[in-house]
Amino acid sequence: MTAAELLALIAAALLLQLMVGLGWMVWRQRSGAAMAPPPTAGAATAAKARAAWAGWREFRVERREFEDAAQTQCSFYLQPADGQPLPAFKPGQFLTFGLDVGVPAADGSVAKRAITRCYSLSDRPDPAHYRVTIKRVPPPVDHPGFAPGLSSNHFHDHVQAGDILRVKAPGGHFFIDEDPNLPAVLIAGGIGITPMMCMLRWCIAQQPQRTVHLYYGMRNGHEHAFKTQLEAFALSHPALRLNIVYSRPGEADLQGRDYQHRGHVDGELLRRTLPHGRHAFLVCGPPAMMQTLVPALAAWGVPPGDIHFEAFGPASVKLPGGEEAAAPSASGFEVSFQRSGRTLAWDGRDASLLDFAERHGVEVESGCRSGGCGSCQTRLLEGSVQYAQAPDHDVAAGHCLLCVGRPSSALVLEA
Ligand SMILES: Cc1cc2nc3c(=O)[nH]c(=O)nc-3n(C[C@H](O)[C@H](O)[C@H](O)COP(=O)(O)OP(=O)(O)OC[C@H]3O[C@@H](n4cnc5c(N)ncnc54)[C@H](O)[C@@H]3O)c2cc1C
Repeated sequence: MTAAELLALIAAALLLQLMVGLGWMVWRQRSGAAMAPPPTAGAATAAKARAAWAGWREFRVERREFEDAAQTQCSFYLQPADGQPLPAFKPGQFLTFGLDVGVPAADGSVAKRAITRCYSLSDRPDPAHYRVTIKRVPPPVDHPGFAPGLSSNHFHDHVQAGDILRVKAPGGHFFIDEDPNLPAVLIAGGIGITPMMCMLRWCIAQQPQRTVHLYYGMRNGHEHAFKTQLEAFALSHPALRLNIVYSRPGEADLQGRDYQHRGHVDGELLRRTLPHGRHAFLVCGPPAMMQTLVPALAAWGVPPGDIHFEAFGPASVKLPGGEEAAAPSASGFEVSFQRSGRTLAWDGRDASLLDFAERHGVEVESGCRSGGCGSCQTRLLEGSVQYAQAPDHDVAAGHCLLCVGRPSSALVLEA
């Protein structure tokens, strides 16, 4: 064969290959839909797991477990009653529960009452179950005659394995930044440890190299929740720096073994123990801790964007340079609750429209009482409402949150 004949043969072979290739592409494009592989069971499951649900969903209590020696903090493991996989959530978010609890009356009878409460997810996302950890709330020390906390005592005394609970999908804006290069400082006071356990477990599973400093304050070893788990994490994860802080250690509590620092988690402790550099701070604790520590971080020079906090109830935190607290709202406005048929004079005595409504016996829904869950969201038919701090819940247009709102004009509310 001559060189020219050989070249012609190669060119023909290439042309044939090109034509076959083009033909194959056209055929695939035409029958594309039919050729697409059917979704696998895994893909379908993942898609379902991603979709959160609207309204209430039933969960079965799988088991319960105390987390502290005092047995005042109990974890409840929840499985969806419909057996469908659970949506993932952001580590730090909470669940909202609708409960029918018994309220003892003065004559000894027990009346049923519907209440709504929020509880943080205390374990990392898992499609098979959720976990919440609930602290029993006693009457206030200065009012021992008051009824103990309705929901927390109901959980501790009546909610058992096998029971069904009504739960709203995970929500909230308090969650850990996903940047693995940004060291996280998790600061918990008492039961404020619950969202931190979730964040910590998520970091250990998803970002094991990320440095996490956990500061966890409580009175003594009796109240020390998740003790064994935290100590095991600290042993197996060098990136976790555990700082347990007891304010009133018991006789059996040993510094260096049970706790690292004596006193409170405060700005001075953080300055003394944290390395220099940028950190993401996440704070959850009792009102006194929030009201001192969060401003202390800001005063230390931590940029507002690196300070995240959540209160488990009404607690106002003022950050320098942050949104100004709303001025005390003027009195004399008329507030009409349309559905209840009541028109009342706002006298400026109440911290919120929710307190105002409850004081006057107007029945309104409520949950977290801190602007987080949206249970008290009410249509605002006329007037305007002010907030001391922007609520965590995204308020729907034309609505307001009663639990953190105060009137700045006369109001007509749908409730
Ligand atoms: C986002 C979020 C996440 C949360 N996560 C958790 C969590 O993970 N774990 C947890 O344990 N909690 C958590 N909480 C707190 C939880 O939602 C409840 O607020 C808590 O359990 C108390 O509710 P309760 O129904 O038991 O008490 P309540 O019935 O609301 O009573 C609260 C207190 O008021 C007292 N009281 C009773 N009567 C009166 C009266 N007439 N006047 C004044 N006071 C009275 C009670 O004795 C009690 O001390 C969270 C809250 C929020 C907002």
